Amino acid sequence: MNAPAGRFAARTVRVKAPGKVNVSLAVGPLRPDGYHSVASVYLAVSLYEEVAATSTATPGITLSLSPESTLDLDAVDIPLDSNNLAYKAAAIMADVSVHATGVHLEITKRVPVAGGMGGGSADAAATLLACDALWNSGLSREELAHLAAELGADVPFSLLGGTAVGLGLGDKLSPALAKAQTHWVLVLAEYGLSTPEVYRTLDSLRDAEGVTADEPTGVDPHILAALRGGDAGSLSRVLVNDLQRASISLAPALRDTLGIGESHGAIAGIVSGSGPTVALLADDPVAAEALAEDLRHQGLAALHVHGPVPGARIISDTHH
Ligand code: ATP
Repeated sequence: MNAPAGRFAARTVRVKAPGKVNVSLAVGPLRPDGYHSVASVYLAVSLYEEVAATSTATPGITLSLSPESTLDLDAVDIPLDSNNLAYKAAAIMADVSVHATGVHLEITKRVPVAGGMGGGSADAAATLLACDALWNSGLSREELAHLAAELGADVPFSLLGGTAVGLGLGDKLSPALAKAQTHWVLVLAEYGLSTPEVYRTLDSLRDAEGVTADEPTGVDPHILAALRGGDAGSLSRVLVNDLQRASISLAPALRDTLGIGESHGAIAGIVSGSGPTVALLADDPVAAEALAEDLRHQGLAALHVHGPVPGARIISDTHH
């Protein structure tokens, strides 16, 4: 329906974008530019952020968190200004769009904050896609991926989804043809870990041991083969995360969480990215559901998810 002449016609584009688990994460030495090269296998899992982008008559970008969020919003520290990754994504899109309007972004948070699952990155990916649609920017997926990489190393993967190998800072992605599902139980922590601090801790641990890490060049082909077949047993033997010991040194309780998971039927467990979310691998959906239920009885915040799932996509587009 067209708005009457002179009245601003608002439109809302709603996008969902997945969080990720790093099934494998090799981290190179500290580079002179302060970053680390990585070689990672990303898996997009069925825990989604949502961003509803609504055009506004007033110019500028505003932000709010939806009451539909499943996270305890009082317990987390999320900037609602230009430091928010979603805000930055909208600002970048406004720069490249001829018909940009003002925009209000309402974010539904489900991915743990500072949890190692790329929640802020998912918000940025969702916002790129939502503003692209809202402002008819007409950018290709490649152009969006390019803007995504400017926002952060994990943003391109949330746009792409599925399973992918990430090299460089994690942003040089090659999609892997792995469609078979694996089932995981995520154990969410009540606290966050700062990604830069986890990397710094890994550097210190290596320095103290006199170890110089190799530059990662690729990923173990067994991981991709196990993911292609959805073979949880083989996958359980090849999960690896170089950051895990740094996360555990900052948050020793993670070792207990991994132990509890394995003693309750997980076939393997890994800290996701820089943590503190723990991803426990289960044999199948039934085992995952039972494990999640058991861990909830132990007082843990446990969620059954599966992956791979698609990357950011539009779920509704409403004119009002
Ligand atoms: P990654 O795995 O990519 O390192 P993460 O999942 O560990 O990220 P995020 O939840 O993305 O961590 O957020 C890390 C920090 O970034 C938060 O502590 C918060 O201050 C800030 N931040 C900026 N934008 C957002 C956002 N949209 N949602 C959550 N945190 C955000």
